[in-house]
Amino acid sequence: MISIPIKIIEQIAEHAKRDYPIEACGYLTGKDDVVSDIIKMTNTDKSNEHFSFDPKEQFQAVKYARSRGERLIAVYHSHPDTPARMSREDIRLANDTEIKYIIFSVKDNVIKCFEIDKDKNVAEIPIRGI
Ligand SMILES: [Zn+2]
Repeated sequence: MISIPIKIIEQIAEHAKRDYPIEACGYLTGKDDVVSDIIKMTNTDKSNEHFSFDPKEQFQAVKYARSRGERLIAVYHSHPDTPARMSREDIRLANDTEIKYIIFSVKDNVIKCFEIDKDKNVAEIPIRGI
């Protein structure tokens, strides 16, 4: 379970729609499984099929979370024209078993959250809007 303020879910949707047809991406920060903030990031790939973070922005995001006594709970990205599920590429690139992966489908207007284990098994995690 991950708890996300409704306002932040709306911001993810807005970000995804604004950057369409390019994938939007960013981090959610907070404590335990409760999200309190969103950090919108630049998709340096400028692609509609994958994304990469700017290492400088990534460093800033970690610093920002730490300064608030929080951590990066989840990384989110959008799927402009495909469903909200982990693509083969998403699974290949997901190496952090501590972070959650959130995908917002612009096409379906659906948000989903996933976790991955060290053997690359993907599990969907329920999202609770708070
Ligand atoms: Zn993806």
